[in-house]
Amino acid sequence: MASIFISHSKQDNDAKHFLLEAFAGTKVKPILEEFEPAVPSGVSATKIANDIKSANAVFVLLSETVQQLAHTRDWINWECGTAVNKDIWIFEPFEAHGRINIVAPRLTHFVRYSLHDSWRNYIRTIIDCYDDSHVFPTLAGTAGTGAAFGKDPVAGALVGLSIGVAGLILHGMAKPTLGIGVNCWNCKSTYKVHLPTDIGDFRCATCNSNCRLALQQPKLATV
Ligand SMILES: [Zn+2]
Repeated sequence: MASIFISHSKQDNDAKHFLLEAFAGTKVKPILEEFEPAVPSGVSATKIANDIKSANAVFVLLSETVQQLAHTRDWINWECGTAVNKDIWIFEPFEAHGRINIVAPRLTHFVRYSLHDSWRNYIRTIIDCYDDSHVFPTLAGTAGTGAAFGKDPVAGALVGLSIGVAGLILHGMAKPTLGIGVNCWNCKSTYKVHLPTDIGDFRCATCNSNCRLALQQPKLATV
């Protein structure tokens, strides 16, 4: 069964439950780990490293609470070093923009999310992209799916409107192709950002520079 390793603060109950709701009904298992203890060592480090290595992706839930934890950066550095060749998703609350400056040496996705149904659905779609329960090694072909976001602009419709679940490849794993690819003007890092459709501002989670996407008209995917 596919799994996703999730780092969070035990104090961020709302965000944790919101995320777990997104996992509900999927065939992807969440593996939760709290930021509160010091960076693991010895036996605990081996266990957590194995959890990360066996996971299909790593989700990092940032928050203003996490910002206050003295060793958060150590944790994220450690995880990024352990999660070699894994997708690393940094989730930051929309309203915390400008109040968090935690950086990650490497990430593949940055998400400015809100505790709202539209984002829960979007995150569920992300999670579903890692579902490998339907994948057979001998099966080749393309599984195309699409979803139309942005039908509820008031609720914060999302940028990153087309979903292409990549074709099944050898040892197939459907990889998410969500979001908008960016190249930071300052540190040149490349990753994808996921923002509400009417917001172009985000911070680079590698160098903490302020960045802005040129807003564009949403394109609804063909189903
Ligand atoms: Zn940058």
